[in-house]
Formats: sequence, C-alpha cells, structure tokens
Amino acid sequence: MNDGTHNATMTPIYPGSVDAAGRPATLGVLGGGQLGRMFVHAAQRLGYFTAVLEPDAQSPAGLVSHHHIQTDYNDPAGLAQLARLCQAITTEFENVPAQALQMLARTRPVAPGAAGVGIAQNRIEEKAHFTACANLSGVTCAPYAVIETPAQLQAVLDDRADLLPGILKTARLGYDGKGQVRVRTAAELAAAWAEMGSVACVLEKLLPLTAECSVLVARGWDGQVVSFAAQRNVHVDGILAVTHAYEGNMPPALATRARAAAVSLAQHLDYVGVLCVEFFVVGEGEHADLIINEMAPRPHNSGHYTLDACNVSQFDLQVHTLAGLPLPEPRQHSPAIMLNLLGEVWLDASGQPREPDWASVLRLPGTHLHLYGKAQARAGRKMGHLTITGPDVASVQTVARQVAGLLGLPF
Ligand code: ADP
Ligand code: MG
Repeated sequence: MNDGTHNATMTPIYPGSVDAAGRPATLGVLGGGQLGRMFVHAAQRLGYFTAVLEPDAQSPAGLVSHHHIQTDYNDPAGLAQLARLCQAITTEFENVPAQALQMLARTRPVAPGAAGVGIAQNRIEEKAHFTACANLSGVTCAPYAVIETPAQLQAVLDDRADLLPGILKTARLGYDGKGQVRVRTAAELAAAWAEMGSVACVLEKLLPLTAECSVLVARGWDGQVVSFAAQRNVHVDGILAVTHAYEGNMPPALATRARAAAVSLAQHLDYVGVLCVEFFVVGEGEHADLIINEMAPRPHNSGHYTLDACNVSQFDLQVHTLAGLPLPEPRQHSPAIMLNLLGEVWLDASGQPREPDWASVLRLPGTHLHLYGKAQARAGRKMGHLTITGPDVASVQTVARQVAGLLGLPF
C-alpha cells in the first residue's frame, strides 16, 4: 500500500553522499512541529541535510532545519521545491493532506505512504481496518457505530443502547482529546452530534480502562521490522501526561501481545516508517483484555523516552526507514519515565507567565530536558518533555515524583 514503485527496490540514500547534480543527501519532512524537529535532529546527527515544509515562520522544526519551505502543506510550488531538494520525504503529523503525499510520491520515495496515512486520518477507516485485521492481530477495537447521516444516528438511538455511556468522536482531525464528547444518554448523543455540526463521527462504548499502553514499530522498504517494548501511558484530560517505560510497567503477557499485534498491523498495511499503535487495557493482570484504540503513522509522544533510554530512538528509526538504511534492533539501556511539559508549567495560578525552576529540576540525577522552541506557552500546548533515567525503577520513580512536585505536574 505504499503508493508505489519504490518498495523493495528503494536505493539506500547514504548520509554524506552527493547526487549526480552535486547536491548533498537531503531528507524532507512535511510539517514543522516538535516531531519534525526531533526527526531533523536525528537526520542531521547522521549527516543528512534536511528540509521542512511548514507555513509557520517560527515552527519547532523549521527553526533547526537547513531548509525551511514556508508554504501551505498542499501548495504545489512548495511541494515541488521539497521534492527538488530532497531524496526522500516523510511526514510528522497525520493530518497532512493525502494528496500532498501522493504528489510527492510521483517523483520521490515517501514514507509512510498516502494509503496508511489516509487510514489513520479517519477513525471510520481505521476501525474498519482494525476489525479486518482482528484475526491476524488478535485484538479488536471497542464496540462502536458509525454516525455519518441522520438515519445512522436514528438507528443507533433505536438499537445501540449497548454503546451508552459512550464517547462520540469526530472521524477526522481529532487529537489530544479534541473532537470528542462523552455522552450518557440517547438525548445527549443526539445533542452532541448536532453540536459537532453533524459531521462524520464514531460512537464508541466507554470502557472501564485499567491502563493504556502503546507500541512503536519501525518497518523498512524491504519489510524488515523492529519494535520497542510496550510503554504504559497515563492521560489527563485526553492528553498524554506520563509514560512509564521499564520492565514490569505492565503484565508481561499483555506487553508481549500488544507488541505482536502492533507488528502484525504494520505488516498488514505494508507500512514503511515508524508506526505507533495505542491500546486500552480492561481488567487486571495477565488475563486482562487488550483493546486497540488508534494508530499514529509517525513517531509518537509516548516514544520520546527512546531518545534518552535506548540505543536507538524512534526518530533514528524514522530516518533509517526513510533512507533505506538497515534497522538496528532497539535495546533499552535504562528504565525511564517521561513527563510531558504542557503550557501550564510556564503559567502561574493566575495565568501570568513564569520561568520554571530548571535549576532545581536539572540538579536531580538522570533528568533530560527537551524543549521544542515554542515561544508562546498556552494551557494544554505541548512545550517540551522531560525524561528521567536511572539505574533502577525505584530511583527513576523517586526522581520523577520530585520533578513532578517541583513543576506541578501530575504523577
Ligand atoms: P486522541 O486522538 O485525542 O488521542 P483517543 O481516541 O486516543 O483520541 O482518546 C483520548 C483518550 O481518551 C484516550 O487515551 C483514553 O484515555 C480516553 N478514551 C478514548 N476512548 C475511550 C473509550 N472508548 N473508553 C474509555 N476511555 C477512552
Ligand atoms: Mg490517542
């Protein structure tokens, strides 16, 4: 499903190489957010030049890239310039227009391809895909119904009381808990759908989650697959707050099942690049149910700990997959906890700007601060993250608790 002609026959793009026209090996990324910034860092460390296409003049990735093409994501001239500058192109956010990826794929290797990104962009297609893969992956998604028309709404109101209480989610453009509403009754459901402008949605049964986890998979053009162990995630108000990445973070049998399911989904999609698959856990212990939530066709916030706790990061693997380099087997060398730094950290109780107490935080052992270069702190905005590593889980937890106390973070 990679639109293309470049699969197995992809010629590796070696860092530091120069093409026939004398241009240095350059990798491109659509989108200028923090994920693009960390991709740029990883690519540059290996020796690639980079180009970012992003309309915002002050974007996290644009600020650190060799080239910044400042146009809309679907601007034909901007896309043509990106294709001219780069030997291969990736994306850093899933709502990149599929047509932009298709256009680039006519002349350049693009990973992930438009097909996989298109599925992840639309919860209706995504859930249909999970359902179609259920036999293979061994996991299903939460019970749900598609609501695209008044007739479908009526059918759900009449016959799907089993989905209430539930969560109504827009099919497109939802992220960090945006574009979703919890509904308890049929009346609330009807009102919520109207409130959302009667756009295409899915209604999902509200599940009694005991935990959430995610798995990062990287797959190359030749089908080589590597993955990281499952990490356990804690969300607050629909936004990731904490990632626990260490042995014993969840029952081993569940972690193994999640990892196998994520790998099989990537293979089934003939996916090239880094894929993150998010899961719900319902129930306790080894025999808890594992339910697939959603997937992101890119590195993921829950994989940021790999930068500091592993021999190879999710961004390194994004570079390796894109350029057709061999994929190193990931190995985590330290237990880690990642704390997300949202805009609130820079605001005091009355909403006035304040400088976080970095001196106290950075004095603690094993703290790794990553800020994304965003000038404006706003509540809920992802400004950076902090990973704590250490010799053992107990000391990492102790430091994480201290950091959380200093910065007023949930832990
Ligand atoms: P987003 O695209 O915003 O990440 P998700 O569908 O992953 O949307 O939902 C965000 C969070 O809301 C999840 O991580 C989970 O904590 C909670 N959530 C979502 N769907 C359900 C559900 N069916 N049952 C219980 N909690 C849910
Ligand atoms: Mg999610």
